[in-house]
Amino acid sequence: MSAETHDVIIIGTGPAGLGAAFHLIESNPTLDILIVDKARVCSGGLLNDCKQNYTFPIGFADEYWDREGAEQILPEVERHLQPKIMEKHNLGQYGQRAEQLGVSLLDVKQAHVGSDKSMDLIRRLMSELESLGVKVLLEKEVAGVFTRDGRPGVTFADDREISAVALVVAPGRKGFRFLKEVMEQLGVDYVDNIVDIGIRLETRAEHYSIVQDYYDPKIYFDNKVRTFCTNSGHARVVLEKYQDFSVINGHAFSRESRRNNLVNFALLKTIRLQDPVRSGHEMAVYLGRLANEIGGGKPLMQRVGDFRMGKRSKDETFNQDLYDFEPTCKVTAGDLGLAIPAKIMKHLWTALKKLDSIVPGILHPGTIMYYPEIKMYANKPAFRDEYFQVGDNIYMIGDGAGTSRGITGAWASGIRAARGILQSL
Ligand SMILES: Cc1cc2nc3c(=O)[nH]c(=O)nc-3n(C[C@H](O)[C@H](O)[C@H](O)COP(=O)(O)OP(=O)(O)OC[C@H]3O[C@@H](n4cnc5c(N)ncnc54)[C@H](O)[C@@H]3O)c2cc1C
Repeated sequence: MSAETHDVIIIGTGPAGLGAAFHLIESNPTLDILIVDKARVCSGGLLNDCKQNYTFPIGFADEYWDREGAEQILPEVERHLQPKIMEKHNLGQYGQRAEQLGVSLLDVKQAHVGSDKSMDLIRRLMSELESLGVKVLLEKEVAGVFTRDGRPGVTFADDREISAVALVVAPGRKGFRFLKEVMEQLGVDYVDNIVDIGIRLETRAEHYSIVQDYYDPKIYFDNKVRTFCTNSGHARVVLEKYQDFSVINGHAFSRESRRNNLVNFALLKTIRLQDPVRSGHEMAVYLGRLANEIGGGKPLMQRVGDFRMGKRSKDETFNQDLYDFEPTCKVTAGDLGLAIPAKIMKHLWTALKKLDSIVPGILHPGTIMYYPEIKMYANKPAFRDEYFQVGDNIYMIGDGAGTSRGITGAWASGIRAARGILQSL
């Protein structure tokens, strides 16, 4: 029997875990809550450049959310994150061009913190949480989860155990394997049939001028292709490292920082695997490893000009006429066609051609296409109720459990789980 107990244990200090912690403690200040994270700095994905979207369905998993439910909860997310909402201009003009091509331009309420400022936001949130009485345990990796005498609990590598009345598991996208193990341990059924696969484009700001009017334009094309995570001002493409391969991502510094006048954004295709479903995650791992294999241990990059001529990019082709900026993430110059499945490439390229008619310039020969950008969320548990409960008093939320696809949706998922816990305590 574990000696240490709390009312609620939350695994993960990302936005999902924080959303749950704040809602619980603000609703009932007497609750004894412990939030645990393996990282040295808390708050998971908030540590990136922290673009926040406050319009449904951005950041929400639409199988678990509807507009009404999301809109009812988003003001509470906003109250904590205190976003500075950005203005948008000329949407009518872009929207009209999009409509003619059967493409949708979504008008989304947005804020952007910047990678250089997100730590300030995190410090404020954590100090508020601690002053409300929530206990925070950092640099402690939860090794497993158990249930005993009807109570859930967590174990650590040193065999220490802590139990609780309710447990919230919010380990994020990178906690995919941990979550899978926990679900198998607890006998929770899950499906893993959706994955987003795509490329990230990097170009000069003047070749994607829409960013002057709309910071992170959300554009939805046929074949489940969409723009995602646009960065500008001082924007950089970065590597997101997994165990034995890397994928591409991007971020930007705040508006106050020196501009590099580059833009990057992802173009992703959502793939829903059907019978015989194996695993979207495993498919993504195969594709990620293949790209890294071809790239000699790194992802690939190719200039649009080379791609159009059916030629692989080489280091030299990044230094000739028209190729007038240095890649911010120097991976291997190569041939995306060798690594991207044909159907995915075809749908991405069709979308890109339409995008070039909506925002002329994106298909400039100097634009770089990086691959792979892959979103490996969602081992989606079989939820028992609308509060994301998977077992007696055990809740699974956030990007890892597939209830969200971004910061605001993750925070909102935490609030929903907290509401369930408050009813059952
Ligand atoms: C480079 C990058 C940029 C991004 N930019 C944006 C953006 O601008 N806007 C946006 O909306 N979204 C962005 N995202 C996505 C966003 O970060 C996620 O949607 C969000 O953080 C998900 O929240 P979460 O709480 O589910 O998981 P996370 O934020 O990933 O938090 C999970 C936490 O759980 C901890 N954890 C995992 N396993 C264990 C364990 N076994 N024991 C203890 N602790 C554990 C982790 O250390 C982590 O702190 C970005 C992601 C990346 C990688």
